[in-house]
Amino acid sequence: MFNIDMDSLDLEKTYDLIVLGGGPTAIACAIYAARFAMDVLIVGKVFGGLIATTDIVENYPGITSISGQGLMEMFKDHMNSLSIPYISDEIRSIENVEDYFVLHSFFQKFKAKSICIATGSERRKLGIPGENEFAGKGVSYCATCDGPFYKDKVVCVIGGSDSAAKEALFLAQNVEKVYIIYRKEEIRAEPINKKRVYENEKIEIINNTNVVEIVGKTTVNHVIFDNGKELEVDGVFIEIGSIPNSEIAQRIGTKINEKGEIIINRKSETNMPGIFAAGDVADAPFKQAITGVAEGVIAAYSAFDYLKNVKIEY
Ligand SMILES: Cc1cc2nc3c(=O)[nH]c(=O)nc-3n(C[C@H](O)[C@H](O)[C@H](O)COP(=O)(O)OP(=O)(O)OC[C@H]3O[C@@H](n4cnc5c(N)ncnc54)[C@H](O)[C@@H]3O)c2cc1C
Repeated sequence: MFNIDMDSLDLEKTYDLIVLGGGPTAIACAIYAARFAMDVLIVGKVFGGLIATTDIVENYPGITSISGQGLMEMFKDHMNSLSIPYISDEIRSIENVEDYFVLHSFFQKFKAKSICIATGSERRKLGIPGENEFAGKGVSYCATCDGPFYKDKVVCVIGGSDSAAKEALFLAQNVEKVYIIYRKEEIRAEPINKKRVYENEKIEIINNTNVVEIVGKTTVNHVIFDNGKELEVDGVFIEIGSIPNSEIAQRIGTKINEKGEIIINRKSETNMPGIFAAGDVADAPFKQAITGVAEGVIAAYSAFDYLKNVKIEY
């Protein structure tokens, strides 16, 4: 069950499958594994994952409109209905011992015959002066988390993806003005969100422009563009993609691509027997909750097949 007491967990046990992650991919994988009567444990750093930070999800089939948090509460209910144990912890390294794996967190060790890595990604940083200095003091990577602090203020969103458009639309509900600053000609949001952005009087797009510096005193005051111009803003929301959390997978020998994503096949298998990966951490070209869920489910099927075939006895 959710966040179970460590004392009630048998740490000597070797689980059939341990799923790393607390987002939609991990939970979907564990739900299928539990229904296959596999002994499954989820170890996730933060429950909910990235989707839980978004204001509104309108593209998850079967649910017309829901907050990201609300969606993940439904995942949690489903997980609890199957009594799937969930531990809030961060796996720091994985060790391959004979034909099983030992997963190390700061304080615990967990053993598994197979693992599914669904550790998602971290927000990508711009790497410009002022970004680190003003983090939490005007610079944010999550509009739903920090947007409410900017009521009636002027903010900018840096980026041109669908996520950036959604962040701008969310912010526009409360702030006085939102600038979307994008380095290319036209934002690449889904047509429905693009239309909403264009029709929103509070949103203005500044194209073909890069922000090169974030400036302020105690909090952000303005940004400087690559053409030398300045724009006064109270908040800067950076939404320029993400970096896969694949480091622990790399260290154990799992192959990754040039973007740092874990390479998987159509069975969510990595190059290493018994190690599966799915969702935003993997190398599929499209990254959505539903695609992660599908890959997580496939990983559960593959782990089930793997265990049947290798017939590990403990
Ligand atoms: C602003 C924004 C809006 C979005 N809107 C939508 C939308 O409307 N619809 C949609 O389908 N998708 C949307 N997405 C994309 C969606 O959020 C992701 O595709 C989805 O969350 C990926 O799920 P995941 O479980 O693979 O990874 P994540 O959701 O990133 O979850 C990864 C999990 O792994 C945990 N973790 C990381 N490292 C470790 C470790 N070492 N040990 C244990 N746990 C670890 C993290 O804490 C987290 O719980 C949006 C994304 C953003 C940024």
